[in-house]
Amino acid sequence: MDLLNTLVDKGLRRELPTREEALAVLATSDDDLLDVVTAAGKVRRHWFGRRVKLNYLVNLKSGLCPEDCSYCSQRLGSTAGILKYTWLKPDEASQAAAAGLAGGAKRVCLVASGRGPTDRDVDRVSDTIKAIKDQNEGVEVCACLGLLSDGQAERLREAGADAYNHNLNTSEGTYAEITTTHTYADRVDTVQKAHAAGLSACSGLIAGMGESDEDLVDVVYSLRELDPDSVPVNFLIPFEGTPLAKEWNLTPQRCLRILAMVRFVCPDVEVRIAGGREVHLRTMQPLALHLANSIFLGDYLTSEGQAGKADLEMIADAGFEVEGAGEVTLPEHRVTAGGGCGSQAGAGCGSHDEGAGCGSSPESAGCGSHEGGGVCGTAPAAPAGEPRTDLVAVRRRGAGTDLAPNA
Ligand code: SF4
Repeated sequence: MDLLNTLVDKGLRRELPTREEALAVLATSDDDLLDVVTAAGKVRRHWFGRRVKLNYLVNLKSGLCPEDCSYCSQRLGSTAGILKYTWLKPDEASQAAAAGLAGGAKRVCLVASGRGPTDRDVDRVSDTIKAIKDQNEGVEVCACLGLLSDGQAERLREAGADAYNHNLNTSEGTYAEITTTHTYADRVDTVQKAHAAGLSACSGLIAGMGESDEDLVDVVYSLRELDPDSVPVNFLIPFEGTPLAKEWNLTPQRCLRILAMVRFVCPDVEVRIAGGREVHLRTMQPLALHLANSIFLGDYLTSEGQAGKADLEMIADAGFEVEGAGEVTLPEHRVTAGGGCGSQAGAGCGSHDEGAGCGSSPESAGCGSHEGGGVCGTAPAAPAGEPRTDLVAVRRRGAGTDLAPNA
């Protein structure tokens, strides 16, 4: 297919595809799906080899958010039965992080619900970052605390944070339909503040909220312009008790096309499959590793993921390898240009949504995604296109509970 040959050539040269080309990827048929994965896989392997970076979410503060992000189980008015708790103490957060690191993660993503941190919150998180860094040499720490005020990104950087996550989530044109308590411009501003403070910027999207192909292309092109080091791709987990509970409109094939489009538009950036991986990709998860070079290990913010051991087995079975703590994530030209993650000096990179923090993600995304305790993989199959509510399980273990985490 001429389209795919063109996109591979552009991806290897870091040349921006046209919007028409990006839209054409989303419009490919199921008959062409493996060709699309093969083409985007060439770009992925050129920049990232067969490495898979593992990230581990620690939800520092869960639920009770005053914001109204429609996709989020922690939003104002949410009746989702999620865990609700206030700030974890530094040693509690460090203990949770250690479980993920022992499971193979190299980055810890510290997420807190809320519009944004107070200066006192920044102090708390700074203490937590220091505790995690003291106890885990070489770990990358990403903070995801919502909208930042002047000076807060610099303080987090001084405390040792490597990265900051704040997702754009959806296109500028539809942002007001998803959230009314803050704006798209607020989100852009926070990503820029993180960048300016020398933090590695992590910013991504949520697919499956009823957006058009044009909206998806819009947000991915906006992300390319912002130039984050990592782009988490969340697939909406339609939580019962949230306004988007009925938005079950993703298929595994659609998710693969979206990931391929993101890879072609952001070829040399860490593309991370975030919340909704198990719920929407299901048995097609291994194919998605040919497109993304990063996933979350274990559970999400407010929902369960498949068992951490199953994540590791999937990576090995698909012929990929877990990226080691001493390996640099990003291609050399990005490391030398930005100083963000991927730099060996221990600089890292990160995010806040369900999958990545609040900044946005579904799952809980507000920060989050789904879990289970094995929910995935054990539920009976539903007819194609049917809602898979059986795959959505609220997180009941790990941070904020007395039960062992999934890592
Ligand atoms: S995404 Fe973040 S800011 Fe929005 S409702 Fe959820 S926790 Fe609050």
